[in-house]
Amino acid sequence: MHIERIETIPVRIPLKPERRMISALGKHDVSDFLLVRVVASDGSEGWGEATVTPRWSGETCLGAKALIDGVLAPAVAGLDVDDIVGLDRRMDAFAVGNWFAKSAIEMACWDLLGKAAGKPVYELLGGACRPLTIRSRFSLGAYEPERARRRAAELVAAGFTTIKVKVGIEPDRDVERVRIVRETIGPEIDLTIDANGGWDVETSIRCIRELADCNLTIVEQPIPPGDYTGLARVRHETGEKILADESCFDLIHAQELIRHDCCDAISLYPGKNGGIRKAREIADLAGEHGIACSIGSNLEWDLGTAAMAHFIVATPNMQVDTYPGDLLGPDYHEVSIARNPLQISGPLTTLTDLPGLGVEIDRDVIERHRIDRT
Ligand SMILES: [Mg+2]
Repeated sequence: MHIERIETIPVRIPLKPERRMISALGKHDVSDFLLVRVVASDGSEGWGEATVTPRWSGETCLGAKALIDGVLAPAVAGLDVDDIVGLDRRMDAFAVGNWFAKSAIEMACWDLLGKAAGKPVYELLGGACRPLTIRSRFSLGAYEPERARRRAAELVAAGFTTIKVKVGIEPDRDVERVRIVRETIGPEIDLTIDANGGWDVETSIRCIRELADCNLTIVEQPIPPGDYTGLARVRHETGEKILADESCFDLIHAQELIRHDCCDAISLYPGKNGGIRKAREIADLAGEHGIACSIGSNLEWDLGTAAMAHFIVATPNMQVDTYPGDLLGPDYHEVSIARNPLQISGPLTTLTDLPGLGVEIDRDVIERHRIDRT
């Protein structure tokens, strides 16, 4: 069974008004997704999703479409669908970077393989090593104090036991926001912060020290990616645990994080890391060096979130109980592409054991929201 052709469909999906995000990367009101349909030589199909945001990976929906249509799809046509290593090599030989675009094709191949085998993707990855219900933290935007206070109280009432607060915009207001959230949620709830690389080294050290009494569980990406020495300095001078996110897109980045002894955990997800297999490779390497991994998010829709859940369920070093991540993307969006949406209840997301990624595609939803109609 080989890859016969690849179809790409860009869609634009609005976020629910109460879920619109503000972070150091700006506002997030709508999500543009590139849906990818891989058709095999026997007519079977698999679906993937490129969760593209230019402020995150530099990719855009229509850019990813042009890359897949013009470069990646011709490059991988004729490959065996089950040769995921060969698929990755071929895509990397024809284009550097473009992690989310490559991940969408790889994800669709896993979906297709699972459906062909009658097994969920996590079985193809070695089987479940944890329950299919996964607990997430909630990522609170960089809101003004009153909104942050109100939202934090709602989240605790909804059952969240870990709250992440976005910082990295304006240091004094960042510190004030975190302090208000800690006061609101009380001492028992885990509290983390994520600067999305918005602070420099000196600001990070100052702000983290000012927040010493807030008992942070972990500090995510305080400084811009690429400065491993600076990240090590923040970690060692503050004594806080560091979660690397933007610092780790590929295996080389993970090796540098390890070499510089600059993080305690790494945030991974298939989209960011170029596919489920590549994310898994990083998780395994990190595990060999005593570094935990957790799941990050770019506000995926149903397919991207399902791929993340299969990856978590099958990967021992995805320590989501210690460091809960984000698996809530579908709940942020006003419509679902799935006839059988992932079950998301408060902080708990439950994966199905249906074959492939387990997402039954609603083509009507795609047609209503596609953005390439002429
Ligand atoms: Mg992050």
